[in-house]
Amino acid sequence: THFGFKQVATNDKQSLVRDVFNSVAGKYDLMNDILSFGTHRLWKHYAITSGNIKMGDKVLDIAGGTGDLTMEFTRQVGDNGQVILSDINTTMLHEGRKKLTNKGIFGVEFIQLNAQYLPFKNNTFDCVSIAFGLRNVTNQDQALEEMYRILKPSGCLLILEFSTTNSVLLKKIYDFYSFKIIPKLGDIIANDKTSYQYLAESIRKHPNQKTLKNMVLNAGFDFCEYHNLSSGIVALHKGVKV
Ligand code: SAM
Repeated sequence: THFGFKQVATNDKQSLVRDVFNSVAGKYDLMNDILSFGTHRLWKHYAITSGNIKMGDKVLDIAGGTGDLTMEFTRQVGDNGQVILSDINTTMLHEGRKKLTNKGIFGVEFIQLNAQYLPFKNNTFDCVSIAFGLRNVTNQDQALEEMYRILKPSGCLLILEFSTTNSVLLKKIYDFYSFKIIPKLGDIIANDKTSYQYLAESIRKHPNQKTLKNMVLNAGFDFCEYHNLSSGIVALHKGVKV
């Protein structure tokens, strides 16, 4: 245990993750803005502009939730391109569809899927993204192998995820914030403490920059580079299939 929170065994993980996102879906966007002080928009913007996406490209947004990345991708690929918003959770997908429709974005395909089993042929996509999703996946190596398989040669993988900061002071502040403050805010604003405890715990357990880079390479990717955002609180890993 860490800060008194229960560790979650892997076999329970998928049902826990389902409960968490069923519970937070309706307030997901609001909570992101509050808990990150709006910074998640900048992290996502950085990720989206790092994909070298061109007009006409095919893009798959995995664990896409309420569709923040998908929205930007649709602009980048234009009318001849295709963007798929996918997520394991239909409640989150519904929120995503509602938001895209409200913003007048049409033509996106919505697919419910588990990142570990991607129902596409080899060499299908120019870009595959997963933002703040990988840490929720039970078998991350399997998911990365699947992403490699469905990318076209010269296709690019974007993983945006919480990571490890190397600033000792920032780590202290951040640990306090995520283990003490976030669950409280989750309780007050979303009436759901448990889900936000899971959030903090899952961030702490997620592999650091170097480990994730090796996982990406082990899954078959020929190159992987990462870029720290907010001193490593978040990192963008970019994998390329040659
Ligand atoms: N990408 C969105 C964003 O950045 O705002 C949503 C991120 S949200 C923190 C994580 C999402 O991962 C949830 O919508 C959840 O349902 C989804 N998820 C969890 N496990 C998954 C899996 N095994 N396969 C696909 N999606 C999954």
